[in-house]
Amino acid sequence: MSKGAGRGCFHIFEHGMTMEASHRSTIELELMQAIAQDEFVLHYQPIIRTQEERISGYEALIRWNHPRRGLLSPDQFIPAAEEAGFIVELDRWVLKQACAEMANRDDELSISVNISALGLLRQDLPEFVRTTLADTGLTPGRLELEITETSRVSEAACLATLSQIRNMGVGIAIDDFGTGFASLSYLIDLPVTRIKLDRRFISGIVDSPRCLNIVSSALALARCLDIDVTAEGIENLQQFELLKAAGCKSVQGYFFGKPQRLDAMVPHHQSHGFNRAIM
Ligand code: C2E
Ligand code: MG
Ligand code: MG
Ligand code: MG
Repeated sequence: MSKGAGRGCFHIFEHGMTMEASHRSTIELELMQAIAQDEFVLHYQPIIRTQEERISGYEALIRWNHPRRGLLSPDQFIPAAEEAGFIVELDRWVLKQACAEMANRDDELSISVNISALGLLRQDLPEFVRTTLADTGLTPGRLELEITETSRVSEAACLATLSQIRNMGVGIAIDDFGTGFASLSYLIDLPVTRIKLDRRFISGIVDSPRCLNIVSSALALARCLDIDVTAEGIENLQQFELLKAAGCKSVQGYFFGKPQRLDAMVPHHQSHGFNRAIM
């Protein structure tokens, strides 16, 4: 790692950089130590049912509570973890932790976990999911895996693992829908139960009729295929009202709540309805 303090010394973790082979083991070692020393934490962002404005579940989002660099966001270490192949282990830690934390609560809310494409190529993922559900006691129907559109998710190996996981009753969501792999054919091939509309589309709907048309078309497509939709990145009331009018049944974004520790949330049964965040 290079010399210096603050962000500067962290540049090898930044997105899009190719790492020297000699760096790989260092990063992998650091990530492994971080797991062992319990430095990763999960933040949870509420997912809201549009009609009732109530929480239907949470998305688990990882952060690294780094002893020297402070709280790191996923963009600062996920690319490196992917490159080192360590993402498979990291995602499994998240899955276990999130299922355990959610199973402990006395509500029936769902939990969504991001899984890197690399992990989907592993044949033992279904078994890991099955064991995790059994160990934590979480009902399979409360779990959803979020996968990002890449060319790799259309590989036969992914299809096989996803089908097995879907057959357990676990939901499969396509994350960042519309920004990734250009083909829609995975909607035929993969057992998809939800698409998550990327916030890029949502941020434009108030000012751009084109954006709103894209969102409406995606909603229509999902309706035809009997797939659920969650719109990501809702930051204001106008966006929410437009999405509601367009028939979007589920939303997520800073307007309703930023990702935070689960213990910082008001227990669902104690809150009547949902209070929008004050922006
Ligand atoms: P994502 O899965 O699409 O998650 C949504 C991201 O958008 C989160 O960023 C969330 O904090 C942010 N966000 C939510 N609402 C708003 C909003 O209203 N406005 C804005 N500007 N942003 C909003 P975060 O937590 O930094 O995560 C970034 C990405 O890192 C995630 O995107 C996901 O792809 C990846 N990631 C996070 N946790 C994990 C993990 O456990 N495993 C893997 N493989 N990837 C993860
Ligand atoms: Mg996600
Ligand atoms: Mg994602
Ligand atoms: Mg997303």
